[in-house]
Amino acid sequence: MNNENHPVYHPLDSIEDVEQFYAAIRRDKLTEKLSPERPYCYWTIETYDKSNGIRGGGGLGVLAADMRRVAEQLSVPFVLVTPFYPWESHQKMENLEQTDYHVQQNYKDFGFNFVDNVSIKTATTSVQLDVIEKRLGASRFLCITEPNFGELYSGESGSDHRLYQEVALGFGGYKALKLVGCRPGIIQLNEVATFFAALARLDELVSSGMDFYEAVVYTRKHTLYTNHTLVQAAEATFHYSQFEQYVFPNIKSVAVRRWLSDKFTDGWIRLSTPSVEIAELRSGVSKLHARVANYRDINGNKVKFKAVTNGIHMRTWTHPEIMNFYHDRGILDKFDLPTERDFVENIDAVSAADIRHLKNLGRAKLNSILQNRTDQYGNTIQIPEGAMLFDFKRRFVDYKRPWLPFSNPERIAQILQDNDAHYILAGRVHTGDSNMYNRLMNLLHLIDSNPILKERVHYLPDYDEELGLGLSLGANASINTPIVGLEACGTSWMKDIANLGLLISTHDGGVADMPSDNYLTIEGKTEEEECKNLYKQMEVAAKAWQNDFDLEYWIHRQLVAYLDVISGSRMMRDYLNYLF
Ligand SMILES: *Cc1c(COP(=O)(O)O)cnc(C)c1O
Repeated sequence: MNNENHPVYHPLDSIEDVEQFYAAIRRDKLTEKLSPERPYCYWTIETYDKSNGIRGGGGLGVLAADMRRVAEQLSVPFVLVTPFYPWESHQKMENLEQTDYHVQQNYKDFGFNFVDNVSIKTATTSVQLDVIEKRLGASRFLCITEPNFGELYSGESGSDHRLYQEVALGFGGYKALKLVGCRPGIIQLNEVATFFAALARLDELVSSGMDFYEAVVYTRKHTLYTNHTLVQAAEATFHYSQFEQYVFPNIKSVAVRRWLSDKFTDGWIRLSTPSVEIAELRSGVSKLHARVANYRDINGNKVKFKAVTNGIHMRTWTHPEIMNFYHDRGILDKFDLPTERDFVENIDAVSAADIRHLKNLGRAKLNSILQNRTDQYGNTIQIPEGAMLFDFKRRFVDYKRPWLPFSNPERIAQILQDNDAHYILAGRVHTGDSNMYNRLMNLLHLIDSNPILKERVHYLPDYDEELGLGLSLGANASINTPIVGLEACGTSWMKDIANLGLLISTHDGGVADMPSDNYLTIEGKTEEEECKNLYKQMEVAAKAWQNDFDLEYWIHRQLVAYLDVISGSRMMRDYLNYLF
């Protein structure tokens, strides 16, 4: 998204480079295991890559898009199988009133080519899907779509339409893969909505003559299920009758149908149950999450998850000048991994002047993005170059607690005024979440009623990648307040650290991969204590930006501790190491 919304990749120069990357991860035979005909196949219901026409909803989609971008950069043969949604939803706000609107999307506008049609069945009819593709280096998008496919996450979870979308992605996507001449080297299921891809594979093996148990073993060995949810009970359930309508008509093998029928309890199924059965490889998205995710298999045994912490595609989410800086100063190598020699010394050599200079570039970019945005009153805002900026940018969901910093309105107003600081709140309430919508409205009225907050706190609706990036580039300190234990990983905080902002956070998700003395941590046994701590850390952050020594201290600590975690190439390396 840097450079006029068109990401510029610097693919590795030669096959020697690729071999060197594989050698670096001690998998030098990988070029034999993965090839253009046998690629790494990544299934996801959500992708967040607007420059390629697909808008997502949150972190799950950002992760999928970044996996493909990293694969493209590192020349890993990779297919992203995902829907192209013909409609996307947006929100705008004027005079504290929110309106939803919907925008139609045409894949031809984003450089996709039509490949052919495939069809999937329901009990009463068959549905024709368009298969479209777009190749980018060694990676490609392979999408299924049709005019009535609808929006991402339209309808209730557990509804017929969701099941239809998931079946279309799984069975339709598997047919699409064959259509373009690929066999999966590995299938990664990005959450259980993609379960039907692995089922389609199992069914194909059995119906083409493989012994059922051999086919299960084979499918299991080549399938990785990545979990992002902590509690199994929170997952949608589907009824057997819905499967009779949408799923069973697509299964050729009687044995596979019987196997799947056995996974229902009292007529209901959660897709995680067959997912952990069909995937021998299972991962969670941070160390903490992999440890605490509480999933049981069909026999009631606890499911073990391997931790592969999410990373980000650094060249997408970091200011180009900062990326150049990391490379020139020997902090990142050509794979965007932390350098092996002198990494810590090179970070210690980063001066406050360097940090301020690079942050000013980021602030200018943020202001240019803000030209095309409006706040809760419908006004355009700009943040002065010399002012301090805090930000809170996330989906508006309960556990992330966007209202927490406003628990004591006078106190936060004082902090903002004393430090000539502004606060940008960006978020998106899930359509239909009336609880969060009301909390947001209450918050906006609270801000409206306090003259200091009204001047210094700006809510920006329709949070998306552009705003996510812009705020990471331009903010001095970001606030991340998930209830400890509820964030699976989170990646916004990674964008903030990569762009030389200070992180103020509870110790949760991927942040907890490293000890809490590496950033401005929020601790406390009660919400009230946490909030007091948050205010204290906001003051520490504001002071640090006025004091070279403190600024260097915290930025150095953050980079030394987290650059390895943040690097998407590190994530790809960890996945390849786990898979092969
Ligand atoms: C980075 C990003 C996310 C990830 O958010 P977390 O709350 O950190 O998981 C979600 N949405 C958008 C638009 C992003 O850019």
